[in-house]
Parts: sequence; C-alpha cells; structure tokens
Amino acid sequence: MQEITLDQVDLSKYDVIIAGGGAGGLLTALALTAEGKCVLVLEKAERLGGVWNSYWVDGYRVDQGLHVITRVTRGAFTKFLRTYLSPPPKFVLHEGWHFRVYDKVGTIPSSVGETLRWPLTGWRGRLGLLRIGAKIKTMRLEEMKKYKDISFLEFMQSKGATNQVMLDVMQSAIYLAAGVPISEASAYEALRTLKDTDRESSKLNSAKRLLLGSREYDEGYVIGGMEELIRRTIETINGDYVLNASVNQIHEQNGSVTGCTVSGTTLSHKCIVSNIPLWAMPDIVKSENAEIVEFFNLWSNMKPTHGITLWLGLNKVVIGDRKNRVLVHPTPNRWIVSISSFDPSCAPMGKELVAIAMMKIHGKNKNEMVEIMKGNGLEKYHPGILDNVEMEHVQMSYATRAALIPGQTDLDRPGPRTPIKGLYIVGTDTAGSGVGLQQAAQSAAFRDNIIGIMSG
Ligand SMILES: Cc1cc2nc3c(=O)[nH]c(=O)nc-3n(C[C@H](O)[C@H](O)[C@H](O)COP(=O)(O)OP(=O)(O)OC[C@H]3O[C@@H](n4cnc5c(N)ncnc54)[C@H](O)[C@@H]3O)c2cc1C
Repeated sequence: MQEITLDQVDLSKYDVIIAGGGAGGLLTALALTAEGKCVLVLEKAERLGGVWNSYWVDGYRVDQGLHVITRVTRGAFTKFLRTYLSPPPKFVLHEGWHFRVYDKVGTIPSSVGETLRWPLTGWRGRLGLLRIGAKIKTMRLEEMKKYKDISFLEFMQSKGATNQVMLDVMQSAIYLAAGVPISEASAYEALRTLKDTDRESSKLNSAKRLLLGSREYDEGYVIGGMEELIRRTIETINGDYVLNASVNQIHEQNGSVTGCTVSGTTLSHKCIVSNIPLWAMPDIVKSENAEIVEFFNLWSNMKPTHGITLWLGLNKVVIGDRKNRVLVHPTPNRWIVSISSFDPSCAPMGKELVAIAMMKIHGKNKNEMVEIMKGNGLEKYHPGILDNVEMEHVQMSYATRAALIPGQTDLDRPGPRTPIKGLYIVGTDTAGSGVGLQQAAQSAAFRDNIIGIMSG
C-alpha cells in the first residue's frame, strides 16, 4: 500500500474505501487483498495503526500500551497474520499468569490438585474455589450466555463464591480483559475469559481437564513487536492510503451508501468499511431514515475503558523471564511484563524493557498514578528494579473501545452489517469475541464475517 494525497485519489481503482486505518481497518484490508481487491484507506491521524502501534524512546521500542496477544495459537488475530503475511510472523508464548497477594504468589489453578494446594487462601477458600472452578470449567457456552446481562460479581454471589482473595484475584484477571471491575463486567464475558474458550469441548474433555489440569497458556508476544506487524501488514495490502484524512461524513441515499466527505472533498463510492469508533458514528452518518438513525444512536453510548502504561528501560536485566505478573495486593492491580524477554530487539543489548499497566484511577492525575505504579509492592517483588531505570515513558489512552459490560457483549453488538447497504463496520467495538486485537481481527475475520458478507 502506498501513501498518496487526497488530490491523487483515483476512485475508479478501488473496490472498497476503508474509513480509519486501525487494527480493524487494516486487517480487513489485508483480507480484501487476499480476495484480489484494491482498497483506499482514509486515516485521520498522521500514521496508520490506531492504538495498535509502536515507536522508539531513547533506544527502546515501546508499544502503545502493554500489548499482550491473547490466544496466540488459536485466535483470529494470529491466524490472520499467519495466513496473510509471508513468511508468517513468529509469536513467543508467556509462561503463565502469576498473581501476587502480599507475599504469596499463585497461578490460576488448572486442576483439582492445584486448587487444593493453592497458596493464596486457606482451606475454606480452596474448597470454595474448587466448587466454582468446577462449575466454570464444565459450563457450556450456551449456559454462559444466560448470564450476559448480569455482572460477574452478581454471578459469583449467586453461586455463594464470596471468598475475598478469590474475588480479588478474579478482579485482577477480569479487569485487564474487560477494562472494568467485576462489579461492572458482564458475567458471560468474564466466564468465557476464565474458561478461555469460544468453542465447546466435550463433557469428557472438560472433566479430564478439571481432574488433570492443562497448561494451555495461550498468550504471548510477537518477534519484531507491533511495529513490525503493522509495517508488514501495510506492505502486503493492495491499495493506497491517505493520512490526515478525517472522514467527516458518510452519505446515504435510499438506504445505500453513496460516498464520504473528507476535508471538504466528497468521494463517491458504493462500498465503505468504517473503522471509526461506533460512538462517533451518529455525527458522521447523516440520514433521514429513522431506522438508520436509531441503529447508530444505540451504539453512541459505548463505554471505552482507559489505561495507563509505564515503560521502564533498565540498564541491566532485572526480571528476565516471560511471566505475566499481576500485583493484586497491596492495591491497586498492576500488570508487569518484561517485554525484552520475549523479543530482545526492543531494548539495547544486555538491557531490559519492562511494561507496567493498570486501569486509570478516577480522580488521580498522571504523576500520582505513576507513583502508585512504582510504589509499594513493585520493589518488593523485584528488588532493585527502580535503581536501574535509565528510560521512563508514560502513556495514557483508551485501552479498549468497548468495555465488556452487560448489554454490550459480543452477543449484543451489531456485527459488520449496518442498515445501510454497502456500509460495513469493523473494530473492537463492533463484534467479535475475545479482547482487543482479537476482537478487531474477529470483526474483520475471513469468509464467515465481513469478507464473506461482502463477496456473498
Ligand atoms: C494501552 C493499550 C493496551 C492494550 N493492550 C492490549 C492487549 O494486551 N491485547 C490486545 O489484544 N489488545 C490490546 N489493546 C487493544 C487493541 O490495541 C485495540 O483493541 C485495537 O488495536 C483497536 O483497533 P480498532 O481498529 O478497533 O480501533 P482503533 O485503533 O481506534 O482504530 C481506529 C482508527 O480510525 C481512525 N479514525 C477515527 N475516526 C476517524 C475518522 N473520522 N476518519 C478517519 N479515520 C478515523 C483512528 O485514527 C484510528 O486509526 C490495547 C490497547 C491500548 C490502547
């Protein structure tokens, strides 16, 4: 894909216009390329990628946020990139989640035996966890769907699972996926995240896993970082892109899309894929049709979640492993990953890049939150870590366009179709299970989703 200016656009070349070049838009463009199509991407920012990007700070390559790729072996995101990029990118798996509650560290137990030895609670807590763990592990997807309109905390309370340490650990795990506390997260989304599935497994397999456990950690990172993935994605797409091109309006006539307006220029086209956040769409799609207005208004109240990421460049390797660490207590929840342990190319030789992330704390400013992130618990877990900092970089942004809350789960979301013929929507907030990049990829995924609909 080549960068061009607005006055160089030759509309007869393009099969599809893509409004917004974030993960959803670019992955759709990648799949369309494989179908032999040519695209025009209109991006309002100065670069492509949206919140999926990387850049360099004092010799360290940081991502926009701590980007841990979920479902590395099974998910839509990696499947996309493995299918469409040649040679396929290499992903490195994490060594599991490690939750620290004061001085004790435990993983999420995966079997009856592990639950009975769980170091984070006493006997009563372990028995409670065993009961609820068995319930969740053997629950079918259909049953989970019944809980889409209640919070995970309500679900746990309804099952009598109220051990505080267990709830705190769940809180930390779900917070990072759903972007909201368990009192606000949809029980269905939380259950699916905990069971880590979109697919059914047989009762026998569920029971086997429950008894014997499974080491199915399926999260990781990519060699070359997000920067390399985006660069290669852009290189592979067939078409052109225009930067600083904000789509101000998408036009509709008699129920069909007719084009869009960008910086005062109208581009006529009968096929547009929008990667613009759903909450902004009511201002962009102007229509006299009540059904269309209602469709976009419904999604204007989507709840984005906000995070803060602290990047530390260390002058020597202090952590040096690929564990996903979550500090549960002392408060608040923090998530720590040594990114250079996956991909040493993101830090100068012999040095370490560590990312610490948490959800924004209401009422605290940036400096206060950074102090909390560096504060009590971090030094205890990694003695000396703060003495070796030579680069410090803070980012604040929305962590996901759509919190996984009741009424806004993937079961509720609209999917790629809109009431306007020829206008489709993609991105993490439109549809798709999983979190973040996984949702963006699901929204653009293969033949059973947007590509199938468009070519069908
Ligand atoms: C801090 C942070 C941490 C994260 N961690 C993870 C993680 O660990 N794992 C994971 O899977 N995901 C993670 N994510 C989420 C993941 O990065 C996002 O879900 C995904 O990249 C969003 O893609 P998108 O296409 O939905 O949206 P966006 O990235 O928002 O893309 C939308 C694009 O449209 C453009 N645009 C908007 N309006 C217009 C307009 N009017 N005209 C033209 N262009 C427009 C925007 O500039 C942008 O480029 C994280 C995100 C952040 C910010």
